[in-house]
Amino acid sequence: MYYIDFIVKQVNGEIKIMSEEEEYEEEDNSFIKLVNRTHPMFSNRNATFTYAKDGKLVTEKIASIPDSVILCDGCNSLITDDVVGLYMLAPNHPWGTQCKSCREEYFSEVPVVDETN
Ligand SMILES: [Zn+2]
Repeated sequence: MYYIDFIVKQVNGEIKIMSEEEEYEEEDNSFIKLVNRTHPMFSNRNATFTYAKDGKLVTEKIASIPDSVILCDGCNSLITDDVVGLYMLAPNHPWGTQCKSCREEYFSEVPVVDETN
């Protein structure tokens, strides 16, 4: 019995059919972007909770996350440094925050863009 795995992706508007090996060889554009903890992305972070009640969708705002609370998406620790690392999959595609320790441990080979000035 043969198993052939193909991945169909849309890349730059074109449909591409790739084997799994080809997908792994795809270019990696990830990088670490360093931002100040006062970056606007960390302020006024509200969350909403939507659920069904009596056949209707209800959306409630839940308590906002304090601006000073920034957790590392790598180790879940509270980031208290003035500089926060964002692991970026592409220029406008942040994956998550990374503390200094996680950046050094897991992303030392990844290019760094410093936007703290
Ligand atoms: Zn961490």
